Amino acid sequence: MSVSHAKPEMMLRGIAASPGVAQGPAFVFLQQALDVPCYQVSPEKMHEEGKRFESALLETRKQISQLRSAIADRLGEGEAAIFDAHLLVLDDPALIDETLKTMHSTGFNIEHSFHMVAERYIAFFSKLDDEYFKERVGDIRDVSVRILHNMLGLSRRTLAEVTESCVIIAEDLTPSDTANLHSGHALAFVTEGGNRTSHAVIMARASKIPSVVGVASVTEQVTRDDYILVDGYEGVVYVNPSPVTLERYQKIQYKHGEFQEKVFGEVTLPNVTADGVPFKLSANVGSVEDVQIMAHVHAGGVGLFRTENVFLKHPNRVPDEETQFQAYKSLVEAVLPDRVIVRTLDIGGDKQHGILMSGESKEQNPFMGFRAIRFCLENKDYFRTQLRAILRASAFGRVKIMFPMISSLDELLQAKAFLKQVAGELEAEGVDFDKNIPVGAMIEIPSAAIASELLADQCDFFSIGTNDLIQYLLAVDRGNERIAHLYEPCNPAVLYILRYVISMAKRKKIEVSVCGELAGDPSFAPLLYALGADSLSMAPAVIPEIRYLLRRTTRADLDALVKDVYAETDARKIGEILRNFYTMRLI
Ligand code: PEP
Ligand code: MG
Repeated sequence: MSVSHAKPEMMLRGIAASPGVAQGPAFVFLQQALDVPCYQVSPEKMHEEGKRFESALLETRKQISQLRSAIADRLGEGEAAIFDAHLLVLDDPALIDETLKTMHSTGFNIEHSFHMVAERYIAFFSKLDDEYFKERVGDIRDVSVRILHNMLGLSRRTLAEVTESCVIIAEDLTPSDTANLHSGHALAFVTEGGNRTSHAVIMARASKIPSVVGVASVTEQVTRDDYILVDGYEGVVYVNPSPVTLERYQKIQYKHGEFQEKVFGEVTLPNVTADGVPFKLSANVGSVEDVQIMAHVHAGGVGLFRTENVFLKHPNRVPDEETQFQAYKSLVEAVLPDRVIVRTLDIGGDKQHGILMSGESKEQNPFMGFRAIRFCLENKDYFRTQLRAILRASAFGRVKIMFPMISSLDELLQAKAFLKQVAGELEAEGVDFDKNIPVGAMIEIPSAAIASELLADQCDFFSIGTNDLIQYLLAVDRGNERIAHLYEPCNPAVLYILRYVISMAKRKKIEVSVCGELAGDPSFAPLLYALGADSLSMAPAVIPEIRYLLRRTTRADLDALVKDVYAETDARKIGEILRNFYTMRLI
């Protein structure tokens, strides 16, 4: 598609979420709310209703088959197999017969009759204590929503169906939306909701997809035939940019390209400061595919493996022990001789999974709710499966296990006791694993930070999750664009708690790393390193820039930085000190 000069340029402002500039045609991703009508039909009309049902089933079959072959071509047969399960649901005579029977006995229209039957099936399978049947819930839900859309004449979109390169415009994106998208097809993301540390944004940043979030009513202002330019540095979106804007951005992109070249010129140089002190930079990853970019940027191992991404890639099934083991083992082997910190499942909050959470009722405050270690300690079957897979993978390389969202010593001890039990089971089965696997906790809840002295006695290492630590400390939902201005890492309370946790880890002589987004932020990386963080873990794409920056520091500058920052009480001024420190070194 070419740039439309007929339409006037419109500029929209949002929050700069993932850096970079990109342009392309718009793809407006909107889900229509599914409002299933309910009315009585006369017996004479029931034959016609049955016919409508039949043609919706045929249309659904056609769509699923098309989707199946598109995914098979693009991603391979393995990824396409999910649609075979969907076709099986469509073939289930019980679902079809019961729908017709329900219509005849109740006199309700076919959509409502089908909806009642499908919901009954979903409720029944969700309650079964069997993983296979639980997985079927997602398939039934997916297929029934598709059938309903077809009966109601609505079109349903998923990002897996995006087949051309475009700028994706959405109300909001979930991590599974982004996980399902074939990376080459999203040039940029623009959303109405979200914040810099929402998980979909973290994934966009890891994939180097420029993003602007919090753009009010963008889905109403943009249509399919608009051309979009996204500036992920400044948080600005141009709808139908003028030739002048396009030319200006050509220059900006050229300048950024030049800077990246300079930074990449040092990618193979050692991680040592200007006065010869070594530093460690590792990568935050979500799958084994990230290893390629890790090698490209010379990352020193994996400081955070977000294992939930292995689950989110397939929202309609739960990977079994073997699938998880293979995923973890491939990563662990690929990263050797470096180590991988494998974080156990951090599901919940903005990371909802169709099957794992299917039996749970909707929460008022998901970020403060049934998430991460809380979910695992109450779902021991899933937890056991994952721990077995991680422990088995530990026999193939250097693995550390980390528990997310620890809020108390008791919770940490429960998680450790269960890990010990699972390790004992594996040992009894004669399965090989690392018997001395280090175990650590994420420090991302204020209570854990305050109790870090106690927790350190029970941990081999800490990793500070600044994304959550800031949201819980400041009571600012990390995904809510309305209060994004309050999500302020320079708030002195944040700086005090970071300094405290690092000092406690030092006092107790355990390793401490930082794996939240602040670790890869050039304003914060020098401060965190200066405070004593043993390693910084970040999206692989930003490693070269942080390396370039730390190579231009000395202990004396870092000490002066700490002194200046902690002498200041105003968040805005602290921000200026931090920005000045890095801009002076990056020019
Ligand atoms: C964090 O909270 O800082 C973190 C690294 O974990 P996540 O972003 O996955 O919640
Ligand atoms: Mg977290």
